[in-house]
Amino acid sequence: MAFPSMKSAVLVDGVVLNGPTTDTRAGEKFVEEACRLIMEEVVLKATDVNEKVCEWRPPEQLKQLLDLEMRDAGEPHDRLLKLCRDVIHFSVKTNHPRFFNQLYAGLDYYSLVARFMTEALNPSVYTYEVSPVFVLVEEAVLKKMIEFIGWQEGDGIFNPGGSVSNMYAMNLARYKYWPDVKEKGLSGLPRLILFTSEECHYSVKKSASFLGIGTENVCFVETDGRGKMIPEELEKQVLKARKVGAAPFLVCATSGTTVLGSFDPLDEIADVCERHGLWLHVDASWGGSALMSRKHRQLLHGIHRANSVAWNPHKMLMAGIQCCALLVKGKSDLLKKCYSAKASYLFQQDKFYDVSYDTGDKSIQCSRRPDAFKFWMTWKALGTLGLEERVNRALALSRYLVEEIKKREGFKLLMENMPIFAFGTFLQASERWKRDQSSGKNLMWWPQPSRRGC
Ligand SMILES: *Cc1c(COP(=O)(O)O)cnc(C)c1O
Repeated sequence: MAFPSMKSAVLVDGVVLNGPTTDTRAGEKFVEEACRLIMEEVVLKATDVNEKVCEWRPPEQLKQLLDLEMRDAGEPHDRLLKLCRDVIHFSVKTNHPRFFNQLYAGLDYYSLVARFMTEALNPSVYTYEVSPVFVLVEEAVLKKMIEFIGWQEGDGIFNPGGSVSNMYAMNLARYKYWPDVKEKGLSGLPRLILFTSEECHYSVKKSASFLGIGTENVCFVETDGRGKMIPEELEKQVLKARKVGAAPFLVCATSGTTVLGSFDPLDEIADVCERHGLWLHVDASWGGSALMSRKHRQLLHGIHRANSVAWNPHKMLMAGIQCCALLVKGKSDLLKKCYSAKASYLFQQDKFYDVSYDTGDKSIQCSRRPDAFKFWMTWKALGTLGLEERVNRALALSRYLVEEIKKREGFKLLMENMPIFAFGTFLQASERWKRDQSSGKNLMWWPQPSRRGC
């Protein structure tokens, strides 16, 4: 960008307004070189088992190694690139085939490119005028997810996390039964009570506290030996709550519990909800992806009877974090009614296009990332059949792991008839673990095969 000649310079408060706001050439060069670095140090090394998962340092040591201080003067190009290099070096390579942790299933290249694109375009999906493509993409993805749930009609929104989706659902259910809550707040409400299983995700408790329902009004229903909610116990608890004058309004069932990977019996739970007029929310943040597999979707049998579903494609389906949808049954426009604030500066009703595409008022956020796009790109690249294969492979791998644990000396399967999903706590600390720990050896001894592509 050329500087304007002094003659045409617009000077206000000593600032030349029609000069460049930034050094464009330096900026472009930096982006180019940093992209190359990301390509070399992150993407190309992502699947290389000879690379380390992490260059681990304890916090105090890491603080010394990284230059975290922000100073008055900006730093030069080479220094900034060095900083980028350091950040990559000391970060955990979550795409590494030997990285085993909650949430992650490996690197999806198509979702990654979608992320690069949206980072570069920097859209926000509140209005169609700002994000025409991404608004339509979100609509298309939600429609398809709704089909997989088995609803004739539905609505939805992508949220920053399954936890937030659960909170949305809780608030929607409350709004459905007590719509005055939006204007009048909590003062006019009876003592609300909701039901979930002992194995539910902790976000249920957080949501209850955040929404002013209170954690004591979350009733944790007993589960069977496999971690599934017992519908008869649920019904007993509902009746008990009614007896003491509380107002039951919501059941939050889980499809794929966090620790045991259990799937609550949705059909039977839906019966209880129907009998007692309760909103059924299914937290399928994790297990929802099984809907894409003809082989495994029966795990969520009855999900079409839910009023709302939380489903995170960023887990088993490997869309980048975060990619989480809340889906709501029917065409009641409940999301919009519940959340809209009708900001006149943003959601004008007299725009030059169909303003029903201004979907932002369905959200409690203002600016919102186009998370659906990551999933859309992957879906486009793999097709529904490819996604199905991804789910089948993930489940086959977990089955393989179970068999390996059974065979392997020093390991103990904590639960017979292991659920086919599960992460986390099913390994008992073994002698080998203790040995490796005391010798400081790499603790990642998990068996082959690598999880590439699952
Ligand atoms: C992962 C998970 C969540 C939380 O989702 P975030 O996107 O991490 O907020 C909630 N419920 C269940 C069952 C989950 O597996």
